[in-house]
Amino acid sequence: MIYIVPESPTNSETETHKSEFMSKIYRRFDALEAVRKAEETLTAINGSEKAFNITEIFGENCLSMDTLKERLPGSVWKTLKKTIRDNEPLNIDVADAVAVVMKEWASEKGASHFTHWFQPLTGATAEKHDSFITPNQGGGAMTQFSGSDLMRGEPDASSFPSGGLRPTFEARGYTAWDPTSPAFIIENGNGSTLCIPTVFASWKGESLDFKTPLLRSTEALNKEAVRALKIFGEDEVKWVNSTGGYEQEYFLIDQEFFYRRPDLMTSGRTLFGAKPPKGQELDDHYFGSIPDRILSFMYEAEKELYRLGVPVKTRHNEVAPSQFEIAPVFEKANVAADHQQLTMVTLKRVARKFGLVCLLHEKPFAGLNGSGKHANWSMSTNKGANLLEPGESPHENMQFLFFFAATLKAVHKHQGLLRASIASAGNDHRLGANEAPPAIISAYVGEQLEDIVDQIKKGGATSSKEGGLLGLGIPVLPTIPKHAGDRNRTSPFAFTGNKFEFRAVGSEQTVSFPTTILNTIAAEAIGEMSDLLEAEIQSNGNLESALKSVLKKTFDEIDAILFNGDGYSDEWQVEAKKRGLLNLKSTLDALPYMMDEKTISVFEKYSVLSERELESRLEIYLEQYFIRLNIEAETTEDIVRTMIVPAAIRYLNEILALNDRGKGSGLDVSSTSTLATQVNSVLSELVAAVETLGKVNADLGGDTIPEKAKHLALVVLPEMNKVREIADKLEKLVADDYWPLPSYRDMLFVK
Ligand code: ADP
Ligand code: MG
Repeated sequence: MIYIVPESPTNSETETHKSEFMSKIYRRFDALEAVRKAEETLTAINGSEKAFNITEIFGENCLSMDTLKERLPGSVWKTLKKTIRDNEPLNIDVADAVAVVMKEWASEKGASHFTHWFQPLTGATAEKHDSFITPNQGGGAMTQFSGSDLMRGEPDASSFPSGGLRPTFEARGYTAWDPTSPAFIIENGNGSTLCIPTVFASWKGESLDFKTPLLRSTEALNKEAVRALKIFGEDEVKWVNSTGGYEQEYFLIDQEFFYRRPDLMTSGRTLFGAKPPKGQELDDHYFGSIPDRILSFMYEAEKELYRLGVPVKTRHNEVAPSQFEIAPVFEKANVAADHQQLTMVTLKRVARKFGLVCLLHEKPFAGLNGSGKHANWSMSTNKGANLLEPGESPHENMQFLFFFAATLKAVHKHQGLLRASIASAGNDHRLGANEAPPAIISAYVGEQLEDIVDQIKKGGATSSKEGGLLGLGIPVLPTIPKHAGDRNRTSPFAFTGNKFEFRAVGSEQTVSFPTTILNTIAAEAIGEMSDLLEAEIQSNGNLESALKSVLKKTFDEIDAILFNGDGYSDEWQVEAKKRGLLNLKSTLDALPYMMDEKTISVFEKYSVLSERELESRLEIYLEQYFIRLNIEAETTEDIVRTMIVPAAIRYLNEILALNDRGKGSGLDVSSTSTLATQVNSVLSELVAAVETLGKVNADLGGDTIPEKAKHLALVVLPEMNKVREIADKLEKLVADDYWPLPSYRDMLFVK
């Protein structure tokens, strides 16, 4: 196949040149333009704002406990505090008084509107704004906000996914105030809005969001952990809550490039792009000094987050060029989960001020590291004791071993569910694609703790490996290392000294669902181990030896899940199979575990999600998966047909014109002929491949969501990958100034 656009040019030679000139894209100039504009933006912004004092601004846009205490009548505050601090059910009588304080406070901050802010099952956050205005009879207006406005909202939210829980004829879902997460103000240059964290449910009370099950799972964990602590003689503990610290990885690129890439705009990742000569091989970006514009962006984003009361703490460059990380100080997990959502929104919003776009996708650039979100998880009592902290005393260490073993037991039993909780089209590019972390769920506990596990399994030796250990001083349990230092970055679930780190969460995903699952399955394991422990104490009366026997039983049972080696290696794939661990490579493999018998039973036991609610979630996850892949596949087809093929044709045409002219002047044109043949051959391949892609794109693969998802994963995705591979070859042949998409080289290295 040969592509020649115009016949032999009838125009004069200069005119031909002019039209070629006009059609070219001149990408080099774009890159220079981007750099120049970036500098202008930076100078403008840096000049306008002064440095800030964290303690002065922290929490000023969030309705803190202190402010509530100061402004509410004493009796109301006491009642509300029981709910916020001690997880007691909300007494709705307080709503009117809280509404008055909230409106007063928000108005002082310049808020004219309020919104019930919630986490629908799309994984993002949703808001529908209402003004405080109420017209009065004299033709003026006053502002109003009542207890019922605070307690309950009815957004006409019929377009949110409900997975069949809410037929459209009864489309009303309602939102209900979550007093455990503080209200906050979102500012914009022209006004401010009071945001009230809420849950979102159907009229029958079935959850349509991520918040409700998270709160229910918190209660489940609370119940079982408090019960277990009583066995250890901790009668004073009022409640236990899970704690969460969520590290967020992200990419930043200049918006000049973003808007020239339809793939980034529709799917958040590049569907094309040849590997640049310099990628992340030199490791010169990781922990390197942060470029000026990026640093200014970080200050601004952090300032906004501080004002919202989000305690962000660390920032650094990540492994891939233009990749960064932000991490907060941990908080109660349900508050931390809201703050995580706010962090994502804020990063995206603030980036725009600096002419940047923040990419949260799990794999924006092929061939470079993807982005994840490390979900650090532990359990804490109302007194602030961390249950996964090896303590100073033998007693604390017994307790530590109990909760440590329970977490491992939970992960062992529910590996499939954990994997399913983080399954998505985006995350498939990391998990199961030979990248961090692998799709096999295993747990890393470090050499020293593994040694202790071994000793307990063997029946209670008391020696311990080197490394700053604490003597327990009792005969039946070995000594516990304080903060095992070694780390293993290849494990999806690692014990890192005083918490577990679930590293397989995708950068764009909500942390609420994986946290819900950790809370629920940990509750179950703690409950089961408490049963055993109580029975053992009954039969031999001694807590220490009873614990020893329960621990031995537990560690024997979960042996397969412990793995300290290299999770990326091929040997591990073989070894894991031998151990009977699941290796669920793709979303389609993993999602069925959301409806596993074990899953249904643990969720029903603790009333976290009913079978119907689980089923609706499974359907929504599949649907989201299918929709995202479908958008990618159609965008791929579109870009090839309307951008890449035309560019190659223009370039080919230019070579052929030279060929003709060259022959006329008696030049040796063999090299241009070779070039034309090369370009033409890859172009032909591409056109053929995009034809096939077009055909499978036009086919739905069936009528049901599972059928469509399967079609996309098994038929469309491979064709899409083929198209990309050929297009990337072409990128390396076609003249740079004809290529219609900003290259990896430009996007990743212009900062
Ligand atoms: P890294 O994992 O990079 O070595 P750190 O260990 O300092 O970094 O902490 C990582 C994250 O873990 C931080 O966000 C921190 O707040 C969080 N974290 C620390 N302790 C806990 C805990 N007990 N519960 C939940 N998250 C925690
Ligand atoms: Mg970490």
